[in-house]
Amino acid sequence: MKIKLVYPRWPKLKNQPEFNLPPHGPVVFAAAVSDDVEISFCDENVEQLDFNEDADLIAISVMLTCQMPRAWEIADEYRACGKKVIFGGIATMLHAYETALHADSVFLGEAEGRFNTVINDFKNGTLKKLYDFHLDFPETSLIGTARRSILNRELYNFRGVQMVDLIHASRGCRFNCFPCCTPYLGGRKFRPRPIDAVIREIESIENNRLFFVDNSLAQNDEWEKTLFKAIAPLKKKWISHPIKDDDEILDLAAEAGCWYVYQAIVDTSDHIRKRVKRLKDRGIGVEGTIILGTDDHDEDYIKRLIDFLLEIDLDLAEFTILTPFPHTPIRSQLEKENRILHNDWARYTAGEVVFKPAKMSVDSLQKMYEYAWEAFYAGLCKEIQMARLYIKVIEKEKRDGTYKKGSHASGRTRKLSRSGVVI
Ligand code: SF4
Repeated sequence: MKIKLVYPRWPKLKNQPEFNLPPHGPVVFAAAVSDDVEISFCDENVEQLDFNEDADLIAISVMLTCQMPRAWEIADEYRACGKKVIFGGIATMLHAYETALHADSVFLGEAEGRFNTVINDFKNGTLKKLYDFHLDFPETSLIGTARRSILNRELYNFRGVQMVDLIHASRGCRFNCFPCCTPYLGGRKFRPRPIDAVIREIESIENNRLFFVDNSLAQNDEWEKTLFKAIAPLKKKWISHPIKDDDEILDLAAEAGCWYVYQAIVDTSDHIRKRVKRLKDRGIGVEGTIILGTDDHDEDYIKRLIDFLLEIDLDLAEFTILTPFPHTPIRSQLEKENRILHNDWARYTAGEVVFKPAKMSVDSLQKMYEYAWEAFYAGLCKEIQMARLYIKVIEKEKRDGTYKKGSHASGRTRKLSRSGVVI
């Protein structure tokens, strides 16, 4: 049997780089499918989708809300030719009802230990319209090493630069932040993978540079310490979302090869200033993630925020506009207040205002978003900032003998992804 696994394209933003990271969801999904099922993968962000390629079942994996309209379009085209289409992925869970209109089957939840039933149903001609495992999680010990062999690696090299490999050590999150749908998807449960399985997976990856795409590693102190101690001997260099702001944990992260982290900058407090400093003091770079348009933001606040970011010497900053994605606390609030402008999901890119801000007009917030990108990078030169981080990782690699010649672009650097990576 052959599955054609499709990862639909999404609209690129002006401030986004031209390159792409290898997607994570599809390779994790592929690991949950038995080896005797052939999988042919197409990432529409880097290659043309061939609708004529023969396959028994079409599986569409969707991560982002703004990918959904294209995903539905693809499904409609396949189904018009008589192909059966199944949907999965995070965004499918957020848009389950709409997706059902374009699908033969919708899979909600995590595939480990479950998807082979779907395959059997398909083979027997009894494919169900819905497989609902939302909040019914498989044991994390069932998560296998991602099936990266389905990727065409060449497509993810950018001007000779070796991209990072994405990996995850845990699922879920115990927090409940206002713009985030993870609590809906994961039920506020932190679910670590067995650390020996994570280490085996890291060892299977040739690339020295990794990106832990876990929602947040700062979920359980003892687990985090154990993970970092286990990673350290592998001498990998890695990026992650937040790690715990604790001296011992930060030291362990630095020793384990932490290259840089994403840190949400939510205000201009000393708490944030010190947090960034503690990371930088340990040689860990910081990319600030800044959401613009919360109810306390006006033009003046955003200008002061940019000054603060420059003052605390962030390595990089990524600005997004507050976006009320389905199943987030902020969406419930804005719906109640009748402040959502539309549900044109292709425009839910986090680069466009889709709600009525409290203290600014829609137009002013859009302009302040552009201003933020321009003002932050004006005096610094984005490329030089990126190059600095890149040089840091090369220096670290040279020190511990893991530097591989040819794993960089000769003299050119680029930001790799919207939530991305510098290399
Ligand atoms: S924003 Fe991060 S820490 Fe907050 S709920 Fe979402 S995943 Fe968890």
